[in-house]
Amino acid sequence: MNKAITCLTPCPVCGSTHAEAVAHIDGKTGEPLVTVNCNGCGLGRIDPLPTVQALEAWYASHYRQDYKGAFQPALRHVLRAGRNALDRWGWLQQQLSSHGLGLPSGASTLDIGASSGEFVYLAQARGHHAHGIEPHAGYASHARDTLGLRVENGSLHQLLPQKHEGQFDLVSMFHVLEHLTDPLATLQLIKRKTAPGGCLLIEVPNATRFCSPRYMFFKAHTLYFTQTSLHQTLHAAGWHVLAHNEATDDNLLVLAQPSSPTAEATTPAWQANRALVQAQQRRTWPAYLVDQLTSGRVVQKMNKRQEEKRMVRGFDGARAVLDHLYQQSTHRPPEKTKATAAA
Ligand SMILES: [Zn+2]
Repeated sequence: MNKAITCLTPCPVCGSTHAEAVAHIDGKTGEPLVTVNCNGCGLGRIDPLPTVQALEAWYASHYRQDYKGAFQPALRHVLRAGRNALDRWGWLQQQLSSHGLGLPSGASTLDIGASSGEFVYLAQARGHHAHGIEPHAGYASHARDTLGLRVENGSLHQLLPQKHEGQFDLVSMFHVLEHLTDPLATLQLIKRKTAPGGCLLIEVPNATRFCSPRYMFFKAHTLYFTQTSLHQTLHAAGWHVLAHNEATDDNLLVLAQPSSPTAEATTPAWQANRALVQAQQRRTWPAYLVDQLTSGRVVQKMNKRQEEKRMVRGFDGARAVLDHLYQQSTHRPPEKTKATAAA
């Protein structure tokens, strides 16, 4: 079947309107939703892409609930997010040190999409001047009121332009880029707010990972990255990739620095690929069921939930859980390393 289509909106990275359809329905709701693999650069995206304004309006209405400061994430969520923060922090430190780099003491850090604040809390616990931006009113107020953090409530499009040029030594953004419609403009804006010699730590879901055939494509994710398309997007926005994890991991983690200011801005030679189409062809129900039965993933998930439940018993709040985790784990090695230095 020929799935070549001409898109309603151009690719926000390479500008091409030619693509191959990967899916036609929203995996969560079953409603019609076209997801494509760009012929130009290999980026995945929904088509048509919403405008920045439409997306902002959706998040604003979705997240603008009045929590009256009473919103509290479950302690199990805090524990899991705290452990993720430690893994990412450990990976970051390892990569920086392998490049002879390091954060200055008292560095200014910004976590975009800070959620309930675990990464900001960790950066602060390690002696840095930590900031966060979070669109969800409940999470932002939890981070401010319960954890005592500098986390502002609002979208990155509202809040980031107000920051000083070159203000941050480290900007982090975990599971945010795949929700945007203007990745180049956003990454260029972050670059302007990053100090000379500063860095950007990004994590997005790996769009080629194996999973249920229905789950993968849904409205909240506007963009789908492979390692290649993520790196190309960063290069096109003026970033140099310092280090990354394995292309086969469930999430893609990248450490980047602003390209040298003397480097000429050139249009990258896009490396097109059909990785999303091929990954989707591998996601069949029989393959998924066999994987679920033989990989031990279901049991691992259940065991992990039980361990988390046991672990948080006896803690009276998020701060106590994180203090325990971060004080205990100053030298905890990250779980998902095997990082590869970028060529
Ligand atoms: Zn493209």
